[in-house]
Amino acid sequence: MVLILHQGATSQDIDFMIRRIQARGLDYAVYRAAVRSQIHVLGDLSGETEADWRTQPAVKEVYGLPKPYRLANRTHRRSSTRIPIGSQELGSSDLIVIAGPCALESEEQGLAAARMVQSLGLEVMRASVFKPRTSPYSFQGLGREGLRILSRIREATGILVETEVMDVRDVELAAELADVIRVGTRNMQNFDLLREVALVQRPVILKRGMANTIREFLLAAEYILQGNEQVILCERGIRSFETAYRNTLDVGAIGILKQETHLPVIADPSHAAGNKILVRPLALAAIAAGADGLLIEVHPNPAEALSDGAQSLYPSQFEDIMAALRHVGAALGRSVAEPVPVRVSAGG
Ligand code: PEP
Ligand code: MN
Repeated sequence: MVLILHQGATSQDIDFMIRRIQARGLDYAVYRAAVRSQIHVLGDLSGETEADWRTQPAVKEVYGLPKPYRLANRTHRRSSTRIPIGSQELGSSDLIVIAGPCALESEEQGLAAARMVQSLGLEVMRASVFKPRTSPYSFQGLGREGLRILSRIREATGILVETEVMDVRDVELAAELADVIRVGTRNMQNFDLLREVALVQRPVILKRGMANTIREFLLAAEYILQGNEQVILCERGIRSFETAYRNTLDVGAIGILKQETHLPVIADPSHAAGNKILVRPLALAAIAAGADGLLIEVHPNPAEALSDGAQSLYPSQFEDIMAALRHVGAALGRSVAEPVPVRVSAGG
């Protein structure tokens, strides 16, 4: 680590810094200069934070500290983390699409969605049973009973399910009954919830907080990585001044996250778009930017959806996106699930 000192730093300032460095069991080399002296700090810097050194009065700049997100950092693990999901592997050349309704509304709706998603060759359906709604008067989800319904749909169809947890008390049951769990944008910095999902051995989709930086996002992931290595980062759009769509999909974040971390990165074009029309271009942009997969809202009948109907795709629109993804995926050397051929019975 290199500490660049302020122009007016005195010998007393340097001595003070040396005592501080020694107290932390670190070595140093001082380079005095008329204009700007430097202190190079050597040794095990893993416990050091930039903030601790930057706040010293004599210090102007701090360089060369390891990234604060130690476990998520690519220097911690050079090869990309691969997370098996069904027969595919997230983080490999497979592009994984997880699709389904915003919320589970009934067993019938969930079953219809599962069959539609499966007909496109997909193995995982999203469906939330705990809904974080802006208004307490909006549909709040089917709760723990919904988890049991999801588990029955899973049994009946063989589909894997992905669902959100909002409360530490529900994590254990969700991890038992669902295949992939999700921490939503509003809970990205719910540290107790992050610690709780660190205790389960299920893949966890961590969505970027709508007003959080990439650094904060990765430090949130770090909480889960303390105990659970199966962390999937999801860019879902951030709040900006733009009002023409719901959120601004930060495509640049996908590129940064892929460079900075070994974790798989997916994108949710639905919550970024807020409307059906924009889901396709955002989905394709995310994949072109390097995302390993997508989380998409599709509903058997969006006009009757109890939440997020405006952005939920009709099955035919979703089919069209899947076809486009196969083309873009092929250009990028990535494979996308193929639709399941319809069986024509003999003599029929
Ligand atoms: C969701 O995916 O169901 C959801 C609520 O999204 P977000 O947390 O990104 O708003
Ligand atoms: Mn939704």
